[in-house]
Amino acid sequence: MSAVLPKLSLTARDVFNLLEKSPFGFVQFGRVIQSDIDAFSLAIHSGLIDINNAPRCVCGNIMRLRQRLDKSENAYQGFGWQCHGSSRCRRTFSLPKVTFFEDVKFSWVKVWDLCLHWFLQTPVTVAAGQLGVSKDAAIDWYSFCRQICYDTVSDLDICIGGPGLHVELDESHIFKRKYNRGRQLAFQHVWIFGAICRESKEAFVQVVADRTGATLWPIIRRKVYPGTVILTDSARVYNSLHEAERGGFEHYQVNHRRNFVHPDNPNVHTNTIERQWGLLKGTIKGCMDEDRLEMYLGEFMYRRQFLMANTNMEKRTLGKQFKVFLSDVRKAFPGVQGQ
Ligand SMILES: [Zn+2]
Repeated sequence: MSAVLPKLSLTARDVFNLLEKSPFGFVQFGRVIQSDIDAFSLAIHSGLIDINNAPRCVCGNIMRLRQRLDKSENAYQGFGWQCHGSSRCRRTFSLPKVTFFEDVKFSWVKVWDLCLHWFLQTPVTVAAGQLGVSKDAAIDWYSFCRQICYDTVSDLDICIGGPGLHVELDESHIFKRKYNRGRQLAFQHVWIFGAICRESKEAFVQVVADRTGATLWPIIRRKVYPGTVILTDSARVYNSLHEAERGGFEHYQVNHRRNFVHPDNPNVHTNTIERQWGLLKGTIKGCMDEDRLEMYLGEFMYRRQFLMANTNMEKRTLGKQFKVFLSDVRKAFPGVQGQ
């Protein structure tokens, strides 16, 4: 191996333009990312492959980027980390080790395309068909992206709302597919509880054991900022939210048995959260194995909390949202660090 830097086909500026300028989608992406070296360039410029911070070898020496002379010089396969200390240590790591691209079984162009399909919420079977990869491979990749969302969201204690902001709270139920003894397919009833802030679009949703006050009140106290205006349906569990010990919220209820919007105040409704339930049930339909529900809820929250939520009341473009996702991928898979 000899020391050399990869020749990239895209500059940092090209990648900036791709992600920062509107519009952003399959057409723009497909125009820029066409070959292995384009895919590799994007991985480097987006920080998913970090060639500037050399990892430290177990022997203590800093490793160096080396070109593997037996491989093509214009793709990631052509490079690796190698220890080159005074000792006899010649340990090597492949460039994609502990990155998003480790153990990828198909071209990196397809990896990027699968990410984009997941990001833009193409149904997984459609994405598999369009890219010519197996359905299992596409499902694996979607799950991988979802896992990153889940990990990012579960690292944080999310709190939404704030003085003068409106938060709709609601509980809903879904059916989770479950195999009982004898591998008979059964369905289990699961309660989920969630909230969304109308102004910021921040949201949370979680599985709850039941819909009693003992379960829901502590969640509301922990996850909704004091001073928030809360809107709910007329379920009795919400009746006491204005009381000091429940948080002393300004609180309005609409009776769904009679109206969907309060007859005297058109602001009093829970349409925003109910629409979110509809979207959530659409995404998890038919793919609900026992343990995957939490992942889907994680993705659902991640998309709202991290991607779509307004930043200083400014709506993020799709390209910027994708960039945010990539920065969370980088945090989850930082590459081989000092060993
Ligand atoms: Zn070493």
